[in-house]
Amino acid sequence: MKIAVTGATGQLGTLVIQALSQQIPTKNIIALVRDTHKAEHFADQGIEVRLFDYNQIETLQPALEGVDRLLLISGSEVGQRVPQHQAVISAAVKASVPYVAYTSLLHADTSALGLATEHKATEEIIQNSGLAYAFLRNNWYIENYLGNLAHIVSEGKLYGAAGIGRIRAASRQDYAQAAANVLINAPSNNPTYELAGSAAFTLSELAQTISTVYNTTVEYINLTATDYSHALSEAGLPQGLVDVIVDADVQATFGGMYSESDDLSTLIGHETMSPEQLITQLKTA
Ligand code: NAP
Repeated sequence: MKIAVTGATGQLGTLVIQALSQQIPTKNIIALVRDTHKAEHFADQGIEVRLFDYNQIETLQPALEGVDRLLLISGSEVGQRVPQHQAVISAAVKASVPYVAYTSLLHADTSALGLATEHKATEEIIQNSGLAYAFLRNNWYIENYLGNLAHIVSEGKLYGAAGIGRIRAASRQDYAQAAANVLINAPSNNPTYELAGSAAFTLSELAQTISTVYNTTVEYINLTATDYSHALSEAGLPQGLVDVIVDADVQATFGGMYSESDDLSTLIGHETMSPEQLITQLKTA
């Protein structure tokens, strides 16, 4: 039984491969990557590496031959994802891949986040493909708020525009473990999992948690969407990414990052990693 993972050299993909390796023989894992030079460490572990670039259609079907279960990790080029994912699913059908799991977005069918459009469209492509599937609707990564943790700590300020929105984010590690478990068990009946962290937090509470872990004072500064957008642009982030981050915070104020679902802790068999545990891990890494 061969399990293949797209975006395997990415941050989530790497953790999925790691989680799979702990449960099944590495010879049954296929890392699908667009740059094979970045994947030499997989080959060293006995994991098969195949070239797979969403933008090079000729690489797709050959790389999916003999695959029993495919994890399609959503691409990172916002705006390009529907044709990219369509190409992958068409290739999967042609290669007779029986099962696909897809990393979607929390409440993709109803979410007001701008990102939801491409995820919803991809889910529809998969539903119309005739493949058996599982939708892994991942909420935000906690890591999204901690990308510049050292700077947050040194400045004593965490900026955002999420107000008192309650956020049930989880670590990449927990989403990856859930994906690996779904791939191994291939649950039938085409399930949709709403995957969110076990406990909700506001960005003020996150700032407080950073303060506690670092034994310092970090204050949450809530900005308007416009001011937050300017601040991120001035920090050098590309406009497309700025728009995604600001939209996510604004939607969080309306509950866009919240869910009542415990699907994630159920899939991984325990509570998800808390922000405190993750920040402590990042501090000591
Ligand atoms: P990441 O580290 O940027 O990984 C993205 C992966 O997609 C990389 O392996 C990249 O390949 C691969 N990729 C990009 N374009 C490709 C193409 N044309 N053909 C084949 N592979 C391609 O992102 P991540 O943190 O692992 O997250 C995984 C996905 O979740 C992202 O792509 C995005 O869709 C979504 N996401 C979710 C959240 C969230 O909070 N839930 C946040 C950010 C992103 P290389 O390794 O060669 O670069």
